[in-house]
Amino acid sequence: MATSHCVGFPRIGKFRELKKATEAYWRGDLDQSALMAEGKRLRSMHWRMQQDAGMDWVATGDFAWYDQMLNHSMMLGAIPHRFEGNVEGQADNLLDTQFRMARGRAPSGQAAAACEMTKWFDTNYHYIVPELHQGQTFRLTSRAVIEQTIEAQEQGFNAKPVLIGPLTWLWLGKVKGESFDRLELLDELMTVYGQVLAELAETGAQWVQIDEPILALDLPQPWLQAFESVYNRLQTPAIKIMLATYFGGLQDATTTVVNLPVEGLHIDLVRAPEQLLSELDRLPAYKTLSVGVIDGRNIWRSDLSAILEQLKPARERLGERLWVSSSCSLLHVPVDLDSEERLDEETKSWLAFAVQKCEEIAVLGKALSGDNSDKTRALVALSDAVACSRRASRRIHREEVQQKTDAITPELMQRHSPFAERYSLQREKLKLPLFPTTTIGSFPQTKEIRRQRSLYRKQQLDRQEYLESMQQEIQATIKRQEALGLDVLVHGEAERNDMVEYFGEQLDGFAFTEYGWVQSYGSRCVKPPIIYGDISRPAAMTVDWSVFAQQQTSKVMKGMLTGPVTILRWSFPRDDVSQKTSCEQLALALREEVTDLEQAGIGVIQIDEPAIREGLPLRKADWPEYLDWAVNCFRLTAGGVQDDTQIHTHMCYSEFNDIIEYIAAMDADVITIETSRSDMQLLDAFEEFEYPNEIGPGVYDIHSPNVPEREWMKQLIKKAAEKIPPERLWVNPDCGLKTRDWPEVEEALTNMVQVARELRAEY
Ligand code: GLN
Ligand code: ZN
Repeated sequence: MATSHCVGFPRIGKFRELKKATEAYWRGDLDQSALMAEGKRLRSMHWRMQQDAGMDWVATGDFAWYDQMLNHSMMLGAIPHRFEGNVEGQADNLLDTQFRMARGRAPSGQAAAACEMTKWFDTNYHYIVPELHQGQTFRLTSRAVIEQTIEAQEQGFNAKPVLIGPLTWLWLGKVKGESFDRLELLDELMTVYGQVLAELAETGAQWVQIDEPILALDLPQPWLQAFESVYNRLQTPAIKIMLATYFGGLQDATTTVVNLPVEGLHIDLVRAPEQLLSELDRLPAYKTLSVGVIDGRNIWRSDLSAILEQLKPARERLGERLWVSSSCSLLHVPVDLDSEERLDEETKSWLAFAVQKCEEIAVLGKALSGDNSDKTRALVALSDAVACSRRASRRIHREEVQQKTDAITPELMQRHSPFAERYSLQREKLKLPLFPTTTIGSFPQTKEIRRQRSLYRKQQLDRQEYLESMQQEIQATIKRQEALGLDVLVHGEAERNDMVEYFGEQLDGFAFTEYGWVQSYGSRCVKPPIIYGDISRPAAMTVDWSVFAQQQTSKVMKGMLTGPVTILRWSFPRDDVSQKTSCEQLALALREEVTDLEQAGIGVIQIDEPAIREGLPLRKADWPEYLDWAVNCFRLTAGGVQDDTQIHTHMCYSEFNDIIEYIAAMDADVITIETSRSDMQLLDAFEEFEYPNEIGPGVYDIHSPNVPEREWMKQLIKKAAEKIPPERLWVNPDCGLKTRDWPEVEEALTNMVQVARELRAEY
């Protein structure tokens, strides 16, 4: 039988049980032993799900109270000094220490500045960044992976412990203090890894999966070379190592990796199907190859026949040494499709969540071994039928949408006149002062707003009542902005639950789940919409709200849209067309919205694209292709308006250097960006590039409840004015204000407007 396993399983639970338990513990509503018991119950349930689905091995050590990278920092004792202290004799413990590292505070132990968090490769999952310093030592501290492996074994499961490899952990760590070569820490690190493997051997574990996803990046030579010595030293009697790579192909690293002294290699054939043949040719005869053929990053059911065909040569060559698996951990997909009761049967038949993906892996394993039983044959046939239905469905393939994308021409992506001309026309029409002030779109999503929305969803409020209550919110938000003296107002986004879902719900081609939660970070989960078919806009989505808002004020009202790349990136995309195709469809739908807004008298329109950067492929060679279509889709969205209509965009991240030419190519009239924490250093890239259009560098950090001081903001704007001519500068916060409370927002914006006024007199 071809061995089947998954690279990792979601830990949050079908109904986000882990989130609920952890948050209750943080609030003090659940004690530690109850939390522990819930964790144990969930682990057991998830192992059972894998086993029942037919997995030969279940993954252990992939559970985390907060994050798997943080688990490894705990395992290695890589705990920054500021988290070491105990509070007045209160027993500190590893659980609370890791929560303090992740969130700055926990039920016990002293509060301290939380560790940084950042995105895990090109996913929407965030990990806690290890802090590294010169001369750092490591000591086996948390034995969670060992304990949980024993726990699984005691419950009768075939446990395959999973570790993040030492090189990946180190690569993702960030140096604090004086800079040094992180590889210097390897020796120390290896000692602990060696100890962990020895203890895992004692549990009786046979295979240990060690994940090194950095092998899918452009690695510097010394890092690639380090693999050889690291894996030489990790050899442990009685343990077979399955080195897992995912999120991309190995490319130049192939020769090094296939020859590493490990018994098994896992490769991602969803992202890089072409590597199968090159790997097969070079794989030493003793090695096991685990092929990741079931997509761990997306929710589509697989075409099993096609995969069986693809794997035939491998099976012939490797026999029992061929294992079947998910491309990467199933952490990135929801747990169980069976919980979905509101999805229509047809859409549901196209989908597979973690449990169903394990079932697919098991069927492949059986079919590859020549299992000809009725059951296996029926499952493969069912998969064929589903693939057929998707290929033919009229709900997915809509000629009128395809005709529109076929008709896209470069002219559609081009504003009528160059920026310089648009600039003077807009200034004339909008009559804005120097240093115009605005906000990024959302204002506080108060309890009351959320209560109204929840009543509406539960049908305890009819549509009219809901609309009226949101209109009242919008009205009040506008009054407040007028009182603050802002120049360009927004309606405040009260009616939007989420900047992607709001649009997805109104576009054709999107489906929504009830329980399709995926962990984003810690206890936070997201429920991405599913793009299943060709996208179109049956009716205007925001026009009524913006028109209503404009009617409430004589000031300029800014329309507010989410851009095509961001909607695509924060949804589950189709796997039957390219992302570029879906993005173009989105762009055309949003373009219709933009021109409708303009027709309705909205003269300033913001198209948010906070996700453009995170969409960058892992390898630099693939950047230009992505950036080309991403930028073109933005231009397509914005390109249909008159010269005197002002297009804004907004992005919140901290690196523009390496993509500045593409940011400029977007040709937004105004771009607002997050800069306050970088002390305007971010503007250097714009200055050097001689970025020609207007910029609103954020003047205060909206993530903090602290009210920014005037003098401080003034200095920031002055700094900005040294880099960008003042007549092209806007004054605004870093990002939207929906997570803040009104009192702090009013105080902060009062200061901000005051500073802009004072500066107008000075320049
Ligand atoms: N317009 C959105 C808001 O203000 C932008 C959010 C974002 O950049 N993530 O909330
Ligand atoms: Zn933002």
